Amino acid sequence: MMRIGFIGLGNMGGGMAANLVKAGHHVTAYDLSGEALAKAGAAGCTPVSDADEAVRGAEVIVTMLPAGKHVQSVYQSAVFANAPSGSLLIDCSTIDVDTARAVAAAAKEKGLDAVDAPVSGGIAAANGGTLTFMVGGSDAGFTKARPVLADMGKAVIHAGENGAGQVAKICNNMLLGATMAATCETFMLAQKLGLDLQKFYDISSQASGQSWSMTSYCPVPGVGPQSPADNDYRGGFAAALMLKDMRLALEAAQSSGAQVPMGERAEELYSAFVEADAQGLDFSAIIKTLNS
Ligand code: NAD
Repeated sequence: MMRIGFIGLGNMGGGMAANLVKAGHHVTAYDLSGEALAKAGAAGCTPVSDADEAVRGAEVIVTMLPAGKHVQSVYQSAVFANAPSGSLLIDCSTIDVDTARAVAAAAKEKGLDAVDAPVSGGIAAANGGTLTFMVGGSDAGFTKARPVLADMGKAVIHAGENGAGQVAKICNNMLLGATMAATCETFMLAQKLGLDLQKFYDISSQASGQSWSMTSYCPVPGVGPQSPADNDYRGGFAAALMLKDMRLALEAAQSSGAQVPMGERAEELYSAFVEADAQGLDFSAIIKTLNS
């Protein structure tokens, strides 16, 4: 049993904090939203009325917040001032690489160990305790974080030094966005040229055009395994969240001087799609914009 402070109990954090309680930890929980706090209380967390209180006395402090500016602000206003020395900071949010490295360096100056541990898997995986964590930090930080993360997920992978977890996450999702867009346009080209889409799937899924976007998450309804396409593109991974991750990847490409022309084009396509989509559809629904 560990004393854990958990800040950010939204779509993802709510289920993750509940799984820590189920694993036998004492979880002190804080969120700006009263509704999220009440839910966490019902799941067995101890809700508190400010972030300072969640952090005081905690051996591990987990954050699951929207973006880098929220993590920076919570660390600066509450965590650094109240975290007991020797406690471990685990940020599970998906944030920009520069902020992840900056907050870890600031933590080190305060004598605190910090790791970035963004997740793969959506709300269902957060609720079910089947997330995959990609961890950036020292060997010592990773060793301390692993058992806590294992109580919320099915896989915990040490990616490298601080920031490496965020790098792994955004590189993977930029690649996924680009391959999904390419898979969608290729299905639509095959259709225009009169090829049956099931036939194209049968051939390409066993040929060199195969990818996860095709064989695990096929964007065409009725073709391939069950996917959001078979449910009117509802559920799954919202295009807006994909766009957020792709933008983080482009920001990192710019600051590191990397050339990512395919990532840039995919970001433009997703940007236009998200702007026009009022329904919060899955990212594979981008196929609809290529179907003319
Ligand atoms: P969310 O908006 O549902 O939850 C964020 C929570 O943080 C909210 O409850 C909000 O009230 C709280 N919050 C914001 N500022 C705060 C502050 N200063 N103090 C305390 N609480 C504060 O978002 P989410 O879907 O849970 O996502 C969280 C992170 O996980 C994001 O970085 C997201 O990119 C990442 N992520 C989400 C998914 C997904 O499917 N939703 C999948 C993988 C990764």
